[in-house]
Amino acid sequence: MLPQSIQNLVDHFTTLPGIGPKTAEKLVFFLLKRAPKDLHDFGAALSHIADNVQLCSLCQNFTDTELCQICSNPRRDKSVICVVADPLDLLALESTHDFRGLYHVLGHNINPLEGITPNDIRIKELVQRIEKADPQISEIILALDANTEGETTALYLARLLHKYPVKITRIGKGLPMGSDMEYADAMTLSNALEGRREI
Ligand SMILES: [Zn+2]
Repeated sequence: MLPQSIQNLVDHFTTLPGIGPKTAEKLVFFLLKRAPKDLHDFGAALSHIADNVQLCSLCQNFTDTELCQICSNPRRDKSVICVVADPLDLLALESTHDFRGLYHVLGHNINPLEGITPNDIRIKELVQRIEKADPQISEIILALDANTEGETTALYLARLLHKYPVKITRIGKGLPMGSDMEYADAMTLSNALEGRREI
């Protein structure tokens, strides 16, 4: 039986992916050995992201400012948008240092089994970007996972965006079927980006 305050924190840890009750207890007891100042700093860092992190008004990625660092960088090519499902996919692509355009983060793939429809992800914001873009967007790269959900999302977007005068490409070559973008290594992603095909 744990004291209530400790149990409370254990319960919070178990809400994280891959953390069961035993691991949660281990983490909390590890924290209990730390200096009170470290614990306050940890708590403050959590509060800080709750209060200060927002979605970039353009690409919908997490940011501390209205426009994220990528969207506000004048050296990025604003005519190319790479669409990803998850911010971690964006990080994976940035680690290749091969892509100089902007991104659009959908937040999720379309997944009917989990009840995630096109209306639940940030497709509307993508369409608005294409319609309002100045200079015009010349290419949309769909960098979506090589699994059923990624495939469904890519097909939906390809159909939806067909009416706009923009080239739509899909990366994929070299990405093993069923793979998550965020776990692909930089070389694989680099090759997949290089070998993208128009759809
Ligand atoms: Zn942005």
